[in-house]
Amino acid sequence: MSDTVREIENGYEVTSGKSGKTYTVRTVVKMDACGSYYGKRICSCPAGQHGRRCHHIDAAEQHEWDEAIREKDYDGMDMLERIS
Ligand SMILES: [Zn+2]
Repeated sequence: MSDTVREIENGYEVTSGKSGKTYTVRTVVKMDACGSYYGKRICSCPAGQHGRRCHHIDAAEQHEWDEAIREKDYDGMDMLERIS
């Protein structure tokens, strides 16, 4: 079963299709010294709390890409390229 992604304020709620547990994925966006934006996603699950990339983050990222492509949101895609 795949994960379910729901948009919330400042992030996403991702419910794992496997465990049924829901975690919050937030994107922290910062600006570097040259004025370029960059970002990082943080998940509330145990793996995320240890700084590991988890499938909740993958699911949220896939959701954002799908939305950006559907809406032809090129600024959004540019932003997504900068988020790790
Ligand atoms: Zn996670």
